Amino acid sequence: MTFRIIDLSHTLNATGMSIWPGHPSFSSYKLPDKRNVTALSFGSHTGTHLDAPSHFIADGLAIDQLDLQRLFGRAVAVDVRGKDARERIGWEDIKGYEEKLGEGVIVLICTGWSRYWGTDKYRDHPFLDPDAATKLVERGVRVIGVDTLGPDEMRVEEEVEAGWVSTHEVILGAGGMIAENLRGVEEVIGMERPIVSLLPVKIGGCDGAPIRAIAFEA
Ligand SMILES: [Zn+2]
Repeated sequence: MTFRIIDLSHTLNATGMSIWPGHPSFSSYKLPDKRNVTALSFGSHTGTHLDAPSHFIADGLAIDQLDLQRLFGRAVAVDVRGKDARERIGWEDIKGYEEKLGEGVIVLICTGWSRYWGTDKYRDHPFLDPDAATKLVERGVRVIGVDTLGPDEMRVEEEVEAGWVSTHEVILGAGGMIAENLRGVEEVIGMERPIVSLLPVKIGGCDGAPIRAIAFEA
């Protein structure tokens, strides 16, 4: 049996990537060896990756401790491609998918913003309202994937210090996980019964790790 695999990951490259301000970029170095061996360097949140609860939550699980069962399974792609730059994605945009939600369902938010990958506009993506994230968590959802830098609007430091509650905190605080910088989610929208795999590289004690995210029709 073969499946048509949809690649939901961007390529890790030395140039042309969108990276969260201040995070390490990707670099690689071929060792002077007869065999090809490459030394790699990048941040735990560089490229298409998964946030572990410990990214935001002090005693949250690290990337090597996650329940893999949650990261492979039935998915729902929410089509919000009509949203503008920095526009809010609210529960009113998601509730039409409510009957497909439930325990163990992976929710992919499709903004279409991956087309701006590598450009300045990529930072001005639509964002998921924390209240909508709370309603997803209440319905048993613990894994959310976005085709943007993150589920939250990029904020200035003062707002963050003023105690602004973010969508990151809602999801990771519920023991959930967030897949960021996905691509190709548009192709999942048309699928009848999509299955998604978001398995991270098993890095001991780490707050995040790269994933080779895929989707296929079961
Ligand atoms: Zn992250």
